[in-house]
Amino acid sequence: MKRAAIVGAGIGGLTSALLLNRQGWDVTVYERGSRVGGRIGYEQEGEYRIDQGPTIVLLPEMLLGIMEEAGVDRSKIELLRCDPLYRVHYHSGRVMTKMTSREEQTAEIERLFPGESRGFTRFMKDMDTLFPAGRAAFLERAFPRKRDFFTPSLMSLMGRLRAHKSVRKAVGDYFQHEELLDAYSLQSLYIGGSPFGTPGIYSLLPYAEHEYGIWMVKGGYAALPAILEQELISRGGRVVLNSEVTGLTIKNGVCEGIETAAGAENVDAVIYNGDFPHLSGLLGQSPEVARKRKPYRPSSGCVLLYVGVDKTWEDATTHQFFLPPSLEGSLQEVFNQRRIPAKSSFYVFNPVALDETAAPQGQSVLYFLIPVPDAEGVDWDQESEALAERVLEEAEQRGFPGLRAAIKWKKVRTPADAERDGLYGGGSFGIAPVLFQSGVYRPQPKPFPNIKGLYAAGASVHPGGGVPIVMQSARMAVNQLMKEMET
Ligand SMILES: Cc1cc2nc3c(=O)[nH]c(=O)nc-3n(C[C@H](O)[C@H](O)[C@H](O)COP(=O)(O)OP(=O)(O)OC[C@H]3O[C@@H](n4cnc5c(N)ncnc54)[C@H](O)[C@@H]3O)c2cc1C
Repeated sequence: MKRAAIVGAGIGGLTSALLLNRQGWDVTVYERGSRVGGRIGYEQEGEYRIDQGPTIVLLPEMLLGIMEEAGVDRSKIELLRCDPLYRVHYHSGRVMTKMTSREEQTAEIERLFPGESRGFTRFMKDMDTLFPAGRAAFLERAFPRKRDFFTPSLMSLMGRLRAHKSVRKAVGDYFQHEELLDAYSLQSLYIGGSPFGTPGIYSLLPYAEHEYGIWMVKGGYAALPAILEQELISRGGRVVLNSEVTGLTIKNGVCEGIETAAGAENVDAVIYNGDFPHLSGLLGQSPEVARKRKPYRPSSGCVLLYVGVDKTWEDATTHQFFLPPSLEGSLQEVFNQRRIPAKSSFYVFNPVALDETAAPQGQSVLYFLIPVPDAEGVDWDQESEALAERVLEEAEQRGFPGLRAAIKWKKVRTPADAERDGLYGGGSFGIAPVLFQSGVYRPQPKPFPNIKGLYAAGASVHPGGGVPIVMQSARMAVNQLMKEMET
């Protein structure tokens, strides 16, 4: 039986392990931390518990489909559909509701931005053909060779997806009002990119929200890793916690094993699931990777604020966005001037709106995500508490009356915490989704063509960040591994 070591028990590592185990491989996952899941976990204090990282399930079919391919029954998790999808609260006082139904959305846009609904109809119609093509071209295949990417048909698709423009400019072909442009481009923030600097290809995201819905996992996204871990163990796989992989053994262009505090272990293949830029630290002086490259650019970071509250809000939807007077100005400060903006945008997750088991009866748990720069150059201990207070005050005024007096538990996480947890530069979402770190330019599931037996899966690897997308990278890594190691 062939043996594989998986370095890291994030969603990419666990998915890779299950897929490989299904192919008859003997799999061991080595996890540095004391639990599986990486960015997917709970923040917990007494009776309060809330997701620490991901909250929004996009592309549910991709997630469930890959789970099934990995041999995990889809009934093991319960997805709850969010409809309305979410609300966008503008500083002007307008509140736009996003919905699944195209008819209802058209009416909502016409109500708030008369004359603009035609642009929405055109956007959805164009994307009806572009999305399946974009998914097949960029989400479901890797680019082991550069020439696989630079083909006339892919270049033409890149043009039609407006890869040469920013998402913001791309949706500008459909919408005019500044607030509508915000509503149809802010999605690049989900993957840590500015709508003003992320290529137009990511305008597939606002389409996918309408077309495939936005969902949440009952019990929290953080329920998922433990389900995958149990499945793996029940099928004979192993998960070794508190076990950091400190080096990989590369000999004559072949990855032959791993090193941990317990010693060296020989294996036939390794899948690396740590944040990709840190892989070089495990490779020592291997001549195969000696070529210098420019440092990767991390995605933006987040200040995260978790609260347990002795109160509920009848009208509050599960997901909500609160925008500042100028989203562009605010994000310029985050991405260009690299500082905490004077006026921040923020996202609020309110799981009790759909899942009454998410908090003790009559209470709520809330999660605030505030986009900020990566870890460098900000004194997070100094600045994050004040930022959290500003956001709580604003949330109270704009959507959660009585919030601050009802808070029973509060916790703040910053990019400095993310960096300590191993996220490159403290960026929350892997390397930034800019053009020259996307598609063929992103590390591939087989990252070094001249090293046999070494593969990578995770948010900094093609096709990118977000739970279902990382599961795709695991699938690609395992497919490539099987192609190379079983022939
Ligand atoms: C605040 C936040 C909000 C998010 N919101 C969403 C959302 O709403 N929807 C969505 O789909 N996605 C969201 N994401 C993104 C999503 O969480 C990630 O894309 C995904 O979880 C990344 O998985 P990964 O496989 O790259 O592994 P990670 O979660 O990064 O895990 C990697 C694991 O490897 C371990 N490791 C690293 N190096 C070693 C080593 N040398 N030895 C042993 N172990 C090692 C680490 O300890 C870690 O456990 C969010 C992320 C964050 C941070």
